[in-house]
Amino acid sequence: MTVTWQDIQAASARIEGVAHVTPVLTSTTANDLTGGQLYFKAENFQRMGAFKFRGAYNAISQFTPEQMEAGVIAFSSGNHAQAIALAAKLLGTKATIVMPQDAPPNKLAATRGYGAEVVLYDRYTEDREAIGNRIAAEQGGTVIPPYDHEHVIAGQGTAAKELIEEVGQLNVVITSLGGGGLLAGTAIATHALCPHAAIYGVEPEAGNDGQRSFRSGEIVTIETPKTIADGAQTLHLGDITFPIIQEYVTDIITANDEELLDAMRFMAYRMKTVVEPTGCLPLAAIFNGQINVTGKRVGIILSGGNISDQILRIEV
Ligand SMILES: *Cc1c(COP(=O)(O)O)cnc(C)c1O
Repeated sequence: MTVTWQDIQAASARIEGVAHVTPVLTSTTANDLTGGQLYFKAENFQRMGAFKFRGAYNAISQFTPEQMEAGVIAFSSGNHAQAIALAAKLLGTKATIVMPQDAPPNKLAATRGYGAEVVLYDRYTEDREAIGNRIAAEQGGTVIPPYDHEHVIAGQGTAAKELIEEVGQLNVVITSLGGGGLLAGTAIATHALCPHAAIYGVEPEAGNDGQRSFRSGEIVTIETPKTIADGAQTLHLGDITFPIIQEYVTDIITANDEELLDAMRFMAYRMKTVVEPTGCLPLAAIFNGQINVTGKRVGIILSGGNISDQILRIEV
């Protein structure tokens, strides 16, 4: 079983009236600098501040009554945690979230604020999947992983669907890349609506497991990368996301932390919008020359806007 365009359409219907239809931003300055026509899908304005609400809500809303009774369990460095916590609250089920103890404090607080129970672990020495699975075995409850799940992928694909339905045909679509839920969903939606568009995923240079996997044809696993793009500190692509990426994606490229900060500043100073480092990966890859968008109509998913205090204090 994999994810189809029909699954994305069904996900759209499920989240309708609950998830925000986020705005599409444009910038004459960005267009002049890059030579393309850029359309930014502003998921930093999504509920809880990132596209991940889409996948989480789509997944939990398909629970059986028994699953709703037992609750949902997630392991996440931040945005997936908040997404599951909020979706669980809206749908009336209990959420237990396994989070790294060094997750940004505002993300920890937000997750607790949505009423979830938070269990902390050390991301450099402990395996979050094992912890999540142990809690599931002890308490019952359904684990919803952050990216490698059909219903999550289908939900994430609804952002690109909305973008293309609003702005029309695109030549290039770019997302950030962690475990590949956003990229896989985006690729399926883009392939359905703009069959000839090039599709790119951008990941942190320090953690280019996705690029290495894409080029070698086998999922590569890395150590936790040190990068400010905390939403893309994943160790490997998923068994479900990788084949979808192999089938539809044009290439996977990278941006480094300094380039991410430059893109963040551009978004803040020129476009007056706050985008977290992970969400700046696509624009950083255009600015650093790894994607040429001259003369192209380009869709960019601004994946989230949950920045930490630490980011605001960085000086260069
Ligand atoms: C999770 C996340 C990503 C990466 O999504 P994947 O589905 O894991 O590839 C990108 N940006 C933000 C803001 C995220 O929270």
